[in-house]
Amino acid sequence: MPGWRAELRLADVAPEYEIEVECRRCHKSYMRWPEELMAIDAYKPLFMDQVQARLKCRDKHCSGKVKIALLYDHLVTSFIGGMP
Ligand SMILES: [Zn+2]
Repeated sequence: MPGWRAELRLADVAPEYEIEVECRRCHKSYMRWPEELMAIDAYKPLFMDQVQARLKCRDKHCSGKVKIALLYDHLVTSFIGGMP
């Protein structure tokens, strides 16, 4: 089933959300702010699943594929569309 990542554009992520990037290989995780990623022109028009496919583990020796999640107030949220 296509998840929220295929329906949400990076450009539509509200700035108060944090993006948690977790490596599927070494399981390190780190946080990125949406505006950090939006600052990369090539990422701006992408849907989150495409962003996820382009991001790699921050560890240069690993460079594994990552999984991204949206956090709001440090809680993982599945999707935010249409919420007040
Ligand atoms: Zn890794």
